Amino acid sequence: MKTIVWFRQDLRLADNPALNWAAERGDVVPVYVLDDDTPPPALRMGAASRWWLYHSLAALNASLGGKLVFRRGKAADVIPALAAEVGADAVAFNRAYEEWNIKGDKALKEALGKAGVTVESFNGALLFEPWEIKTKMGGDYKVFTPFWAECERRLPTANIQPTEAPKLNLLGVMGDSLDSLHLLPPKPWADGWLELWTPGEAGAEARLDEFLATGLSNYANGRNVPNAEATTRLSAHLHFGEISPRQVFAALAGQSLIKGGGHNVDTLKRELGWREFCNHLIYTFPKMAIQNWREEFNHYPWQADEEGYDLWQKGQTGYPLVDAGMRELWATGYMHNRVRMVAASFLIKHLRIDWRNGEKWFWDTLVDADLANNACGWQWVAGSGADAAPYFRIFNPVEQGKKFDPDGAYVRKWCPELKDLPDAFIHAPWTAPEHILRQAGVKLGDSYPGPLVDHQQAREAALHGYRKIARQH
Ligand code: FAD
Repeated sequence: MKTIVWFRQDLRLADNPALNWAAERGDVVPVYVLDDDTPPPALRMGAASRWWLYHSLAALNASLGGKLVFRRGKAADVIPALAAEVGADAVAFNRAYEEWNIKGDKALKEALGKAGVTVESFNGALLFEPWEIKTKMGGDYKVFTPFWAECERRLPTANIQPTEAPKLNLLGVMGDSLDSLHLLPPKPWADGWLELWTPGEAGAEARLDEFLATGLSNYANGRNVPNAEATTRLSAHLHFGEISPRQVFAALAGQSLIKGGGHNVDTLKRELGWREFCNHLIYTFPKMAIQNWREEFNHYPWQADEEGYDLWQKGQTGYPLVDAGMRELWATGYMHNRVRMVAASFLIKHLRIDWRNGEKWFWDTLVDADLANNACGWQWVAGSGADAAPYFRIFNPVEQGKKFDPDGAYVRKWCPELKDLPDAFIHAPWTAPEHILRQAGVKLGDSYPGPLVDHQQAREAALHGYRKIARQH
């Protein structure tokens, strides 16, 4: 028997239920389809994701002895055509939960059914299917804490035993080359990223091992400190399925016994719980990436501030923590979670620019761009999401800097023009006396911008807008 395994956001051999099923049946034809036709144009994969994907596919292809078939086009057309071409009697894949993926999968199943080809899909991406976790009344969760409590209640009996990579009888088929998919950016923007990231299954495993050895013991405290690099940095590996959450949970199982491990392990599990929750939300509200979850936000008086948006993208707002984050994003394809919150809040609340513009920029520039996590992150910050920060919570970028980057090490790294400012002024250079600025070589409005907006005034304007929609609602 011959099975096509359609790889998508599950670019690994271990703990891959679709691959296991196919391996049991007999011969396996592994394929990756670059599908820019099924998703709506705005939801096509961004540039940083494509960079990651290129290297992840190269790694997967190497693990498959160069037998990974590359195709492009609408998966619902390409896969049945490939099945006919190679005489496959079955197709297996792991599920993805974006609305367009779900629609595409239905179309694929129908086409294969008509052709008499067996098709099986599996959960390879989540601990629980997004429809599995229900309230006592059988409804969908809208708040994280009870959602996660329910997941935790089920975890001991859930199957989170990851499997080893199966033995495979691989069949070779002619296809496009990886390079012909043109995934790498035409400009040398991502040059040097391979020194920062190792896309692929082996890279994911190595990252997890390194984190367990050096990062876990300080995760709960260190995770909020951008310069501590105390988080797993597994997000892109998880998004592309180079490692599964089951594998991470299994690796964490023994770690609670390590001194202080329990608290850190629980905190990390909770963060992975947010990933489950975001998938639950986007499954139950498929328009999460494009529509406000709270309808009153449809009336928020957003500003069309192109200049502000441009300066935000470039890390030139004059607020060092925001600028450092935006520059880290551009330089590495990643931004620390605390800074994502502050930078997003600045765009939405200080500049009053619609969160969807920020979501779009992150979508294009993050290596871990993930429709569910990105949409939920942005809607959380905006206050328009299901379990969102209250609208009146407006991050003060200066205070956030003082609290989470007290010695300014993160700002100094990404805004080197400020590096000689004393700690007292590093998060608010405009408050420094002239002679201090001169000593530090900072010329406001020249070597570094003055603040784009005044925090208090911007805060008041944002609150005014929110009060208006709250009253109307
Ligand atoms: P760790 O702290 O080590 O967490 C481990 C894993 O848990 C992460 O890899 C991720 O899979 C998951 N996780 C952690 N925090 C969250 C969260 N708040 N929501 C959902 N899952 C979480 N995460 C993405 O993976 N892709 C995105 O596109 C994305 N966009 C975001 C946009 C905004 C505005 C905000 C505020 C957050 C966004 N996040 C996104 C969530 C979070 O910032 C990243 O998952 C995290 O910074 C990745 O670093 P890490 O792997 O070291 O995280």
